[in-house]
Amino acid sequence: MEKTLVILKPSAVQRAIVGEVTARFEKKGLRLCGMKMMQLTDELLNKHYAHLANKPFFQRIKDSMMAAPVVCCCYEGVDAVETVRTMTGSTNGRKAAPGTIRGDYGMSFQENIIHTSDSPENAVAELARFFKADEIFDYKQSTFQFLYANDEY
Ligand code: ADP
Repeated sequence: MEKTLVILKPSAVQRAIVGEVTARFEKKGLRLCGMKMMQLTDELLNKHYAHLANKPFFQRIKDSMMAAPVVCCCYEGVDAVETVRTMTGSTNGRKAAPGTIRGDYGMSFQENIIHTSDSPENAVAELARFFKADEIFDYKQSTFQFLYANDEY
């Protein structure tokens, strides 16, 4: 079973679609393990977006991520990282496929509604960056037997 990080960016909070977007993950069958609102800081974003530090738009994307609070979510499921990434769609909202979150809710490369971890290794590192251990809840999902065959997990 895998856990992954989803951040509802300021673009989702300000456009008041936090409920609609998180409903998609709930309906999919992912287990919600943690959820909290946070005001991101330059220091935290320097780590989170370290792979973009040499891009000309680095400061602009950090400012965008600090423009309002965000909502951080941890979801769990079989192959959760890849599943959530597929639901997210490609980075540029104008090019993201219809049916994906970025494809359905956004017109922008930068203001693209959500961040989602892009590999199991990054998911582990990012969850440790955004959540304390006692903010992740390991309760039993009551619908589990109706979500997976017993050879799928
Ligand atoms: P993703 O969020 O799809 O994993 P990246 O890690 O490459 O993509 O980029 C992080 C975020 O930086 C993107 O979600 C987007 O908000 C912003 N970004 C990336 N590339 C661009 C770009 N060329 N122009 C504007 N914003 C960008």
